Amino acid sequence: MSSPASLLDTLRQIAGEAHVLCEGDLTAYTQDWRKRARGKALAVVRPASVDQVAAIVRACAAAGTSLVPQGGNTGLAVGSVPDESGLQVVLSLQRMNAVRAVDAANLTVTVEAGCILQNLQQAAEQAGFLFPLSLAAEGSCTIGGNLASNAGGTQVLRYSNARDLCLGLEVVTAQGDIWHGLSGLRKDNTGYDLRDLFVGSEGTLGIITAATLKLYPQPAARLTAWAAVPSMDAAVALLGQAHRHLGAGLTGFEVMGQFALSLVDKHFAQLRVPLFREAPWCVLLENSDHESEAHARDQFERLLETALEQGCVSDAVVAENIAQARQLWHIRESIPLAQAEEGLNIKHDISIAVSRIAEFVAATDALLRQHIPGVRLVNFGHLGDGNLHYNVQAPENGDAKAFLHDSEDAVNTLVYDSVARFGGSISAEHGVGSLKTDKLPVYKSPVALAMMRAIKQGLDPQNIMNPGRIVKL
Ligand code: FAD
Ligand code: ZN
Repeated sequence: MSSPASLLDTLRQIAGEAHVLCEGDLTAYTQDWRKRARGKALAVVRPASVDQVAAIVRACAAAGTSLVPQGGNTGLAVGSVPDESGLQVVLSLQRMNAVRAVDAANLTVTVEAGCILQNLQQAAEQAGFLFPLSLAAEGSCTIGGNLASNAGGTQVLRYSNARDLCLGLEVVTAQGDIWHGLSGLRKDNTGYDLRDLFVGSEGTLGIITAATLKLYPQPAARLTAWAAVPSMDAAVALLGQAHRHLGAGLTGFEVMGQFALSLVDKHFAQLRVPLFREAPWCVLLENSDHESEAHARDQFERLLETALEQGCVSDAVVAENIAQARQLWHIRESIPLAQAEEGLNIKHDISIAVSRIAEFVAATDALLRQHIPGVRLVNFGHLGDGNLHYNVQAPENGDAKAFLHDSEDAVNTLVYDSVARFGGSISAEHGVGSLKTDKLPVYKSPVALAMMRAIKQGLDPQNIMNPGRIVKL
């Protein structure tokens, strides 16, 4: 085994002196987005090619040094930063950001892992297509990170999550071999699906260096509406009506609780949140139409008329133009920021079958209120996918730090136990990282966990790929 100094020399030979960072302020690479963890790296290495990635992994494997793959470092599960040992190498894919090719006839794009999501969306648009993955971190998260954490976002309802948008991968294994799996095939039943193993593996099995992804035709029009709804049951009923009226045109269905919107109103008053004072919930709907804007508007108006008549909507507005639509989405996307402005909080990213979500919210709200008088619930999310960001804010005027210290474990247990009772998942779209590693043995079946450990041991017997994340060996 080589010394850290000789490993650093080898890494410099591979990636170039300028791309092995050891000194100066490395916080952008060593601290996670929510500032929940701050580690220390032996070095941050920024390779420029898949061959360099493979050589770096081989050098680290020979030195017995573990690697933490990193894209935009926007993950919310504390999986992309090194531990505090100062012995891990952060492998940043930032420099591998090219859009390699668009195959118009096959409706695919091949892109390097470090490509920023927004850049890929723009490249697809310039080629006349839609790349539908969309989330608030799209200006800085990368395709590699999106795939490694199987990101969801706001268009899953129609286009599904990162996993389903991926047709092929190029991966550097834990042994430093390159798997050239950049297939644009929609059908390939030649054994175990290796692509699906790496998607959602959060850097624990290998390093994604490139991907072939699905493209879609651009819709002719995208229309956004905002509706006040009297209850979560009514929001679910509206979702059913939206499916029936809009069919595949329904591309977004976001729910936002009154308190979540009141925080946006309080901290970003200039955004002018509509209708939130008059109802416990608001819903943001998006209709993407392949005919025309007039057709989309007509469909929306009929849907909202029916919903008003049946009482699942108390009031609604349809955006008049793109600027207004952007404004409505901006309000929705500002909820996490408004929540951060309000102070420390406990986040949960959960999924429940849509049919049980209203019952889950009523039961879990009641339990939390009983345990923590004055607790404030910031509840919002992708209702169309049964995915809620069911967050808990400290009571008003309380000491938020002390609240987190004293109550986080109990609140997590209460919420996750409730999720389990309703047959849901404790991580819908953010992954496991280090944040929920200790929760998996509690909430996941031992049989599933044993298979996951066998996969990890089989592909990374040295345990050098992002160790301690997802499953501990
Ligand atoms: P990173 O944070 O760098 O890494 C995430 C994980 O993937 C880590 O475990 C890392 O080791 C691994 N990884 C990264 N790159 C690679 C690679 N090339 N090969 C192997 N492993 C790799 N997520 C959603 O699903 N839906 C949302 O709506 C959503 N909204 C968000 C909004 C905000 C404001 C923020 C900050 C985050 C949000 N997220 C959301 C979290 C989301 O998971 C990330 O933003 C994104 O998918 C991660 O991409 P990244 O490039 O930043 O990855
Ligand atoms: Zn989300």
